[in-house]
Amino acid sequence: MQSITAALDERRRQGLYRSRRVLQCAQGVWVRYEDRDYLNFGSNNYLGLANHPALIQSSSTSLQQNGVGSGAAHLLCGHFQVHHELEQALAQFTGRAQALLFSTGYMANLALMTTFSGKGDAVFADRLAHASLLDGIRLSQAKLRRFDHNDCKHLETLLAAWREKNPRRRALVVTEGVFSMDGDCAPLDRIAAIAQRYRAMLVVDDAHGIGVIGEQGRGCVHHHGVNNQTPLLMGTFGKALGGFGAFVAGDPPLMDYIVQFARPYMYTTAPPPAMATAALTALQLLQQEPWRLENLRRRIAQFQSGAQNLGLRLIESDSAIQPVILGDTDVATRWGETLWKQGIYTGVVRPPTVAMGQSRLRISLNADHQPEQVDILLHALAGLQHG
Ligand SMILES: *Cc1c(COP(=O)(O)O)cnc(C)c1O
Repeated sequence: MQSITAALDERRRQGLYRSRRVLQCAQGVWVRYEDRDYLNFGSNNYLGLANHPALIQSSSTSLQQNGVGSGAAHLLCGHFQVHHELEQALAQFTGRAQALLFSTGYMANLALMTTFSGKGDAVFADRLAHASLLDGIRLSQAKLRRFDHNDCKHLETLLAAWREKNPRRRALVVTEGVFSMDGDCAPLDRIAAIAQRYRAMLVVDDAHGIGVIGEQGRGCVHHHGVNNQTPLLMGTFGKALGGFGAFVAGDPPLMDYIVQFARPYMYTTAPPPAMATAALTALQLLQQEPWRLENLRRRIAQFQSGAQNLGLRLIESDSAIQPVILGDTDVATRWGETLWKQGIYTGVVRPPTVAMGQSRLRISLNADHQPEQVDILLHALAGLQHG
């Protein structure tokens, strides 16, 4: 108990103690906390679908028809017709033969890492790869080799050296499509070529690319034209698609292998059918309301050029995630608090989520933001620079 309170005290002392705010309304451009409205630049609801009337309508109907809970794992009696339809729609959307649903992206990543690697194998992961991927690698007992962020040379050096000594072992190369804290894209064409050269299986986690990057938001893998060289693609519904849950897409033998062997697939309750309905509607909306993605892209461009004019330190990013790098933890905390007092919510990202000295505001744009609202944010940032 003593070590627990000591660890908590240490977090506070470092200014890294985190706390939760209670949201009093639906997710959207405006969010209400403690009876005050804030302009929201902090969510992953990039297309504004989390509270979209069509998703509410279809999932309500699905609740009426299918009930609330799925009642069991997919392999028992929890695999509903709508799960099945969503898997087929996802396969088509991603340009893959097949897709499988998972309850969360976290679990999908645990499943991928533990099913396709194990003791004696190796996983080559981008240094900024998501915590769920790293946890999966740990659980798999495979060797973890981290390559510098988006550094293909480093990846190739590590992979070539290992492959020479381990001609028969399995190797995975793991990266995010769009990086969750930096917003930049992985150079998937080059990474895919390296993975192929050394007989490693490429896994792409495109949680932040699906719905945002490429034609109709089909994601980074589709956008880079590396579908055929990316055996395992993972995406989630909790971000741009506005819902909850995740999927893995790929060829039938790999998908079947997951169904038969992946513990985070087998030993958990299937997602609520109404959530699958919501995801199905979200996929349809990507086609029916292309203006959402167009708006989002306009707001991204507006923010980028405005922030560049201010001379803020950005990271080159085509995604909805636009970090403003402030470096020092205290500075990031102060900027976040000042914006908050002005009625603007932004993510303040500090260690251990990012490296020391890399603290930042994580600005995320939303298709429903009005140009004037982005201007409000830019104006407030300008004020902070001179404050
Ligand atoms: C959010 C996220 C996940 C986890 O997805 P959940 O469905 O929220 O569990 C995995 N990988 C990345 C890159 C993410 O941003």
